[in-house]
Amino acid sequence: CTTGPNTGNILTTAAATSSSSPPTSSASARAVVTAEETSPDSKCPICLDRFNNLAYLDRCLHRFCFPCIQEWSHNKAECPLCKQPFTSILHSVRAEDDFKEYTLRPAPASNSIPHRC
Ligand SMILES: [Zn+2]
Ligand SMILES: [Zn+2]
Repeated sequence: CTTGPNTGNILTTAAATSSSSPPTSSASARAVVTAEETSPDSKCPICLDRFNNLAYLDRCLHRFCFPCIQEWSHNKAECPLCKQPFTSILHSVRAEDDFKEYTLRPAPASNSIPHRC
């Protein structure tokens, strides 16, 4: 977890100035691939074992097993490491433009009854 906070600051700055520049979703995906290649040791912070289907959080790009962070997201949708809320998990990453996205369901509002459609 050496480059996590820096990456978060960069993303936050980019989001703050997004009014003058186009969205950089592809850029964040590139960062994902780069982070994977430059990591010397790969251990999941949740199960403390080797990654089982490496997955990234969309906001902070911290890495976990996809099953681990998926289970974690059922309890709370925030990063176990940096506490940043996240809305989707990127997993099955093969290339910067070849990955799958697991989008969390929005938290159910306590004051509204979900309707079926
Ligand atoms: Zn794990
Ligand atoms: Zn994080």
